[in-house]
Amino acid sequence: MKFKELGWNGFLLQIPEEMRLTAESGNINSGYFKLEMENLLLEVKWEQFNPKKPKSLAEISASFIENVRKTIEKTAKKRVDIKARVAENIFISSHNARSMILETGSGLREPTYLWVCEKSNRVIIAHFVFSPLMEESEEVVERILGSFKCHTEEDLVTWSALNIRFNIPPSFLLSERRIAVGRTYLTFRDQKFSTFAETGRSFSIEYFSMANVVFEDTYKDIDAWFQKKYWKDLKKSHKNIAFQSSEGRKIMRHNAIYRHGISRSGLFTRRTTICKNLTWYCSKSNRIYSITYMSYISRPFFLKRKLSEEEEEKIFQNLLLSFKCHF
Ligand SMILES: [Zn+2]
Ligand SMILES: [Zn+2]
Repeated sequence: MKFKELGWNGFLLQIPEEMRLTAESGNINSGYFKLEMENLLLEVKWEQFNPKKPKSLAEISASFIENVRKTIEKTAKKRVDIKARVAENIFISSHNARSMILETGSGLREPTYLWVCEKSNRVIIAHFVFSPLMEESEEVVERILGSFKCHTEEDLVTWSALNIRFNIPPSFLLSERRIAVGRTYLTFRDQKFSTFAETGRSFSIEYFSMANVVFEDTYKDIDAWFQKKYWKDLKKSHKNIAFQSSEGRKIMRHNAIYRHGISRSGLFTRRTTICKNLTWYCSKSNRIYSITYMSYISRPFFLKRKLSEEEEEKIFQNLLLSFKCHF
């Protein structure tokens, strides 16, 4: 069986190549994702670990089992009894994890693992569901858990899914998304409030699939595509966006158009926003990509507002340098 990388919300692991991300929610602090392929499902749930009010793994697993029971009862429309057979503890990403096999009476194999990652401050649950038809189930679990990383020593977090890969600082939280056949976007936000200022940064990574069919007449002229097919939507989703200049750039050998500018708005509380966008057509994946970066500062009019153009450029550049639009 072939494996591929998955990077999502601060997790990095190897999963079977056929597995697809079928559900997800939340952000790096607390959230959920589900991966599926024939005869195998893996769901991972995490929440923030509060060292002041630590819950024991036994408590966490009891409430998890209760949730599984409720979910099954909802679909089965009858009472079910779930047994959890405790198995030997194992190490996952250097943490001691509690292992158990859930018995739901469905005939499926459900190995489940729970652990606390003190480095990312999270409680993590990985729940596998195998059909008995899956012959290599033991090896698959071993390979996935053996590769599972729940924290990193690096300053950046790797995202690797949907056939793209990039690194961003962990303070950028996934806040809006749409994962669909024709159009997908992920928006990350990093916001800070202080007494007299509000600052915020955002990345939106968006792509359009089957570009040579859907945008038959514009995909070869990415500037025309941007103006005719995208700009109206981008203005709607990104308040205060404005560009004053544009120039050609390269990304992964593709020709891209880089737009940038500064916008100012507000009367009493004034806001300065730095805006950057890179848009290109990737022939390898047949997708049009558009990455938008915005950084703003809002302060009362009598205070100076300053953003470091250099620092903002560095953050944007770091994302672009790590960005893979095809493999
Ligand atoms: Zn960890
Ligand atoms: Zn590409």
